[in-house]
Amino acid sequence: MSLKAPETPPRIQNRAVAIFGGTFDPVHHGHLRAAAEVSEWLKVSDFRLLPVGTPPHRTQTYASAFHRLAMLELALAPFQDLTVDDREVRRGGTSYMIDTLRSVREEVGDVPVFLCVGQDAANALNTWKEWRSLFDLAHLVIMTRPDSVSQYPPELEACITERLVERTRDLVASPAGGIRSVEVTQLAISSTNIRNQLAQSHSPRFLLPATVLSYIEKHQLYSPNGPQADTVE
Ligand code: ATP
Repeated sequence: MSLKAPETPPRIQNRAVAIFGGTFDPVHHGHLRAAAEVSEWLKVSDFRLLPVGTPPHRTQTYASAFHRLAMLELALAPFQDLTVDDREVRRGGTSYMIDTLRSVREEVGDVPVFLCVGQDAANALNTWKEWRSLFDLAHLVIMTRPDSVSQYPPELEACITERLVERTRDLVASPAGGIRSVEVTQLAISSTNIRNQLAQSHSPRFLLPATVLSYIEKHQLYSPNGPQADTVE
């Protein structure tokens, strides 16, 4: 395990909010471990996993928003410090992070907001709607991931270089606008791999919480004979 610890972690940021968005199709221990480490590192008391409602970048999800939300709630049930934010699912329509952050900002006021994304997502940030405006609303926390390297197109590279800060406390000093990279434990788990195992009737046990696997089995999600109604949003 290699955890970067270049500074003393800040004290609990009671007034800060962190958002970890993803498809969570299904949620797995890679997501959960990253969330646990980043929330601890940022010392935020309000850390939210936020399932995308209808993703703009993918043609489909495999389980419906309803099931993805239910699986996240089961996974996080034992942990009071990690919660589910269902605003994209409730909002309906295509989910754009810029709209989500605007709504979060409206709710929380002038406190630091951290948008946590994996390195793979960060590499394509310039394809997100109104991507430059994201920095008016949140800080970006880039979580490094086992199979991805930083590979930014020039306009994004310039933006990241300009906004990168060395110390987390530099982020906390303002509500938005900075970028920090945080290394998380390398767990080579992906939702794709879990879906593939289920589709081949293999068990992905121990890659995800047992409660989530039971839910998948009960509802026959991702299985070769699973309900196809769940596969297209
Ligand atoms: P898929 O295989 O369907 O693409 P995924 O496993 O990458 O899914 P997502 O829900 O798309 O999961 O990811 C949400 C966020 O979690 C992304 O920012 C991604 O980089 C991060 N993430 C996914 N898997 C891991 C992991 N094993 N370790 C750390 N971060 C992860």
